[in-house]
Amino acid sequence: TQVPNITLNTGAAMPQLGYGVFQIPADQVVEPVKAALEAGYRSIDTAAVYGNEEGVGRAIAESGIKREDLFVTTKLWNDAQGYDSTLKAFDESLQRLGLDYVDLYLIHWPVAAKDEYVNTWKAFQKLHEEGRAKAIGVSNFQVSHLKRLFDETDVVPAVNQIELHPNLPQAELRAFHAEHGIATEAWSPLGQGKGLLEDATLASLAEKYGKTPAQIVLRWHVQLGNIAIPKSATPSRIKENIQVFDFELAEDDVKAISALETGVRVGPDPDTFG
Ligand code: NAD
Repeated sequence: TQVPNITLNTGAAMPQLGYGVFQIPADQVVEPVKAALEAGYRSIDTAAVYGNEEGVGRAIAESGIKREDLFVTTKLWNDAQGYDSTLKAFDESLQRLGLDYVDLYLIHWPVAAKDEYVNTWKAFQKLHEEGRAKAIGVSNFQVSHLKRLFDETDVVPAVNQIELHPNLPQAELRAFHAEHGIATEAWSPLGQGKGLLEDATLASLAEKYGKTPAQIVLRWHVQLGNIAIPKSATPSRIKENIQVFDFELAEDDVKAISALETGVRVGPDPDTFG
């Protein structure tokens, strides 16, 4: 399967669909990552706090795929925010991954109460200048947090990775990103599966297009221009989730999926978490 790329504000190409490894235990992550690479995924999303960077690195090394053909993302955990602690945490992530650079490094949460995300972002700029983080971005940032980075620093994040699925389409943030050249990356793109994927509208669209509800939702992300990183540890679903580039949803159907908005999050509130 050929996955199209999104061009980041650094000029780098990022696959529009990637594989997320949240909640896959360290000792179980190698096989699913290998299955994803075999299925055609080239982008892998991990984080220091997932505790599985070492396994992701091992799967990459054992896959035999050239480093330049992969797009690896990891994230700085909240307890390491601050200038010096960020530089140290980044070195540790690279070491666990067994890599000498990552394609994208993200601040995992703003943790505004701690008031360290601006200093953290300055350390990210240094890592970017050194070429060890080819692109730098943020995750779970609200408009207010992004505006503060614009006011106090010179580099616009390449990506904001946010909770985004049909129950939480994030129209305001997506418009703000578009205005400022920030790519929107959707975490929990399937709303974590249960509930959302049993929705009746999605079931009827699945029947109409001869696809599964998960494929309908992922295709909706693609047509909105989002980057999506669905997670599954099941080989058949790993394959299913990348088979979304051989059909197209009609515009009305895209709108019907966006109308599933409830505003209910599956994850924490970015304004208060951490
Ligand atoms: P998801 O929306 O990708 O849902 C995953 C779950 O959906 C699976 O565990 C499975 O139960 C189900 N599922 C997957 N494929 C399916 C299919 N084809 N048919 C039926 N059910 C299916 O949720 P997620 O794992 O929370 O998010 C994906 C990735 O996003 C994570 O692995 C992680 O990389 C990233 N993430 C980032 C943050 C952040 O704060 N930046 C937070 C959560 C997740």
